[in-house]
Amino acid sequence: MGAQTISTNYLLNAPLPELLEQAATLRDCGHADRLSYSRKVFIPLTRLCRDSCSYCTFATTPSKVPTPYLSPDDVLKDCTRG
Ligand code: SF4
Repeated sequence: MGAQTISTNYLLNAPLPELLEQAATLRDCGHADRLSYSRKVFIPLTRLCRDSCSYCTFATTPSKVPTPYLSPDDVLKDCTRG
């Protein structure tokens, strides 16, 4: 299947099984059975933040952490450990 334009009207009104079949066809044409994976590493250089989002459980105050910033050695350790 080549590139094609699908109208909004079609997307809103087509039966779900038909949409799923078309989505699967487009996916298979574009990527077949290839999967990609990218390992992410989160290295929080600090837990201090100038914002104060009420939902945040990450940011803290300097008095609540032993050191405000990760040391270069700790950063390297996290990088190599992954
Ligand atoms: S969510 Fe937490 S870390 Fe993110 S900006 Fe808000 S207070 Fe800062």
